[in-house]
Amino acid sequence: MILSERRVTLKSRSQVEKMRTAGRLVADVLDRLSEEVRPGVTTGDLDRISAEMIRRAGGVPSFVGVPGPLAPYRHTICVSIDDEVVHGIPGKRRIEPGEVVSIDAGAIIDGWHGDAARTFVVGDVPPEVRLLVDETRRAMDAGIAAARPGASIGDVAAAVEGVALEHGYGVLREYGGHGIGTEMHEEPFVPNHRDAGRGRKLEVGLCLAIEPMFTLGGHEVRVGDDGWTVSTVDGSIAAHWEQTIAIMPDGPEILTVNGRDVSLSQIRHV
Ligand code: MG
Repeated sequence: MILSERRVTLKSRSQVEKMRTAGRLVADVLDRLSEEVRPGVTTGDLDRISAEMIRRAGGVPSFVGVPGPLAPYRHTICVSIDDEVVHGIPGKRRIEPGEVVSIDAGAIIDGWHGDAARTFVVGDVPPEVRLLVDETRRAMDAGIAAARPGASIGDVAAAVEGVALEHGYGVLREYGGHGIGTEMHEEPFVPNHRDAGRGRKLEVGLCLAIEPMFTLGGHEVRVGDDGWTVSTVDGSIAAHWEQTIAIMPDGPEILTVNGRDVSLSQIRHV
């Protein structure tokens, strides 16, 4: 999404704990959605479930009001199916067997954000599609592992891109991870591919959303007529995973977790 607030902030231990509270709620929402994603459910149903859960927990959806080219975003989650990569708008569309469904969710509690995404496979898909989903997840984990104090944004980008290069996946250029805190989108931008420099050095207290977006084809994407939905130009299938992390003295800590395991393939059997 658009970086509206261009600043870097370092968080104290107690502020990180606040972000962990928001992150736990986001993990709970995605866990619940992992049970709801099935053929016949509409993307709007998933959005309503998410909104209810966040409000019941005393939170506010992060995405509502994010400025867009046409109008601010009005929904709680983004649901992006098959060749849609990110920012798909929930509505009447029904999930069908064989689809690849990426869901991005964000919540604010007590002024602090958590932001995470998972890609679900609904029923049977070709093996290369399942591999794409799993390897995008692995790239996220590799990026997180590289986010140690003293490393750089470029090290994270290289770790993420390394997984894509093993398979020849397309890696989105214009979209990537971001700083996060009291704003959902803070500096720095976290690219998923190596670019010119090493980028900013990672300091203790920096909180980042790390979010690879890979495709089975090229890296080029376009934004749809709705002003939001980002799809691959070549129609290839895409996957997207995201976690919010804090860089702490001993290394990265994932904040968008709730103690339950996220199995590698988020597969819904039909
Ligand atoms: Mg994000």
